[in-house]
Amino acid sequence: MEEEVKNYVDTFMSTLIARNPGEKEFHQAVREVVESLAPYIIENPQLRKSKILERITEPERVVIFRVPWLNDRGEVEINRGYRVQMNSAIGPYKGGIRFHPSVNLSVLKFLAFEQTFKNSLTTLPMGGGKGGSDFNPKNRSDEEVMKFCQSFMTELQRHIGSDTDVPAGDIGVGGREVGYMYGQYKRLRNEFTGTLTGKGLGWGGSPLRPEATGYGTCYFAEAMLATRGESFKDKTVVISGSGNVAQYAVQKTLQLGGKPVTLSDSNGYIHDPDGIDAGKLQYVFELKNIFRGRIKEYVERYPKAKYYEGQKPWGVKCDIALPCATQNELDGEAAALLVKNGCKCVAEGANMPSTPEAIAVFQNAKLLYAPGKAANAGGVATSGLEMTQNSMRISWTPEEVDAKLHSIMSDIHAACIKYGTEEDGYINYVKGANIAGFIKVAGAMLSQGLV
Ligand code: NDP
Repeated sequence: MEEEVKNYVDTFMSTLIARNPGEKEFHQAVREVVESLAPYIIENPQLRKSKILERITEPERVVIFRVPWLNDRGEVEINRGYRVQMNSAIGPYKGGIRFHPSVNLSVLKFLAFEQTFKNSLTTLPMGGGKGGSDFNPKNRSDEEVMKFCQSFMTELQRHIGSDTDVPAGDIGVGGREVGYMYGQYKRLRNEFTGTLTGKGLGWGGSPLRPEATGYGTCYFAEAMLATRGESFKDKTVVISGSGNVAQYAVQKTLQLGGKPVTLSDSNGYIHDPDGIDAGKLQYVFELKNIFRGRIKEYVERYPKAKYYEGQKPWGVKCDIALPCATQNELDGEAAALLVKNGCKCVAEGANMPSTPEAIAVFQNAKLLYAPGKAANAGGVATSGLEMTQNSMRISWTPEEVDAKLHSIMSDIHAACIKYGTEEDGYINYVKGANIAGFIKVAGAMLSQGLV
């Protein structure tokens, strides 16, 4: 069987790589899933015959477009826009929009692919998609960001809709950008519908959507720790990133009794051995969301903390690590360091932050390790709740949304245990999430015929 699985994976991957040359992030994301699913596919000839895996790795549609706009100096700038509509078997395409210079087709295909499984895990009716642009919003004026967003949406609006494809935020796209994009969408389409999520509270947004990814990641980590009779209480927590997901991971860690000690950005990380408390977090909210500053400014305000230029926080001794910045930010060496320093639990707030080598280190050490598609699904789940509220034209209270978010994260955790528990009792969350996410999508694809 082992030989058959290996041959299946090798053959599948060599065909996929030949069909999608140079898309290394996409290859990486698919390999992880195919390795988990191969034994299941081999045991189910119907899936193999219907080529479900071949179909699920081929986007239903990819749109690539020119985004021209005028900067503050009156110069023409051109960016490239994308929307990858990966899979609509269980609902309209759903997934965020990323504005970052590293955005390319490979990155968006990996994200849209992961999103398909993640959305299925939430139990809500959402297909998988992802979009974005190589536009860099850093150091741009509000007017430039608005002009870019309007130009981007002028094309994108042809391809989306509340029952077709519902984008949201991601790296570089927060409340400000969603606002500008929604304004332009509404103007062009002359409709007020829930076509974007992450909207402002006063105009169709859901309570707790900004908090949801960070909170959900902590709820998931809490469930993981509980399987070993542990909790966040008095645990030291290392967090990377300093954007939306990281900020609310810090907040929920504090509420659960843990001690967050690091934050980072692409230039370096800060370590505050006394812990980032609620007052310091308030400063970070203002620094990042209002003044759009850099994390190194933290140490000017709190001089007992230290800033490490050009480094990542994984060498800081901790009990729990929550990578919340970006893909491949935690490699095999960093993983070995975390294990050596006694880290017990790694839950991914970001998408694919751990390299395959890092995942192997965690799993060999029998560490509690959960991939982003399970641990960070709270964000899209709450976007799903925003869609429901928009369709029903009602607004739930923060308490109602929080209770639903908490219960969705518990259900995803239970699904991972169901499909991922190995013979020795170790919970392989990668396998659990991949199989649980796949079963529902594959079932829908089989029922809907060859489309
Ligand atoms: P933000 O743009 O708010 O923050 C991103 C953070 O990551 C910033 O601190 C940024 O630093 C850092 N970062 C970005 N690129 C790099 C890089 N190449 N190297 C090091 N640090 C980097 O994004 P979010 O917080 O929304 O997203 C973070 C992660 O969470 C992403 O992987 C995203 O896909 C994932 N995610 C987000 C969800 C959401 O609801 N927002 C939902 C589910 C997953 P800098 O300012 O220097 O760029």
